[in-house]
Amino acid sequence: MRLTLLCLALLFGVACKKYDSTLDKVLDTGELVIGTEPEFPPFESKNENDEFVGFDMDMARELAKDLGVRLRIEGMEFTGLPGALDSDRIDLIISGMTATEERAKSRSFSDPYFHTVLCMLVGKDSGIRIAADADGKRIVVKLGTTGAIYAAKHFKEELVTTLPEEGTCALEVVHGRADAFLYDQHSIIRHAMTNSKTTRAVLDPLSSEPYAMAARFGDTKWVARINEFLKAFRADGRYEALRKKHMPDLPDEK
Ligand code: GLN
Repeated sequence: MRLTLLCLALLFGVACKKYDSTLDKVLDTGELVIGTEPEFPPFESKNENDEFVGFDMDMARELAKDLGVRLRIEGMEFTGLPGALDSDRIDLIISGMTATEERAKSRSFSDPYFHTVLCMLVGKDSGIRIAADADGKRIVVKLGTTGAIYAAKHFKEELVTTLPEEGTCALEVVHGRADAFLYDQHSIIRHAMTNSKTTRAVLDPLSSEPYAMAARFGDTKWVARINEFLKAFRADGRYEALRKKHMPDLPDEK
């Protein structure tokens, strides 16, 4: 009986142990748990063997290696990531997430590790040539993304359709039910290439999108360690190697 109580107390103690910083927890437990939505190639997706692949996933593996810990990847919906972080289910978000001022009010971002822009997938024969041409047109966006945030700010509510999946957003344009899908540039280019008979990409940028990893709000010690990793990861050529592996068509960064 006494032994059982002791075991319970120990288990409870481990489960409830509070750390000042996630860095301490990760080093103490020997495990880094990252959260991602594996629906965003070439940053994160799942291959035919159900493994997490992509630039972000390889970067997470390098981060775990530098920290000297195991990596566990938790796949979930993009909109569920902040909640998982706040409830300690994950230690870090790595999911092609744009660091915006608004989001930075509830989580702490690392330095950016990739820069892109928002642009549009439009119907092949649509008259939309530049961003301003989309005024008054039917817009489709993916729930919870910066595309959705942009649309809410710049377009009338009745013109905006919000869907939970990227693929179905693109199909809205393919089938002519929406005039423009607002999303990150690399995704728009991919959809325009796979649907080249029905769509094209308008590359005029709507906003700039710096991708960063997100830690619990105010965990400066954890963020500082991640930034230290990012510096080393760039300086020793691993960053460039992963860019070439996952984005071979992208020009080198200056
Ligand atoms: N970069 C966009 C955002 O942060 C989209 C990210 C994604 O769909 N994974 O909202």
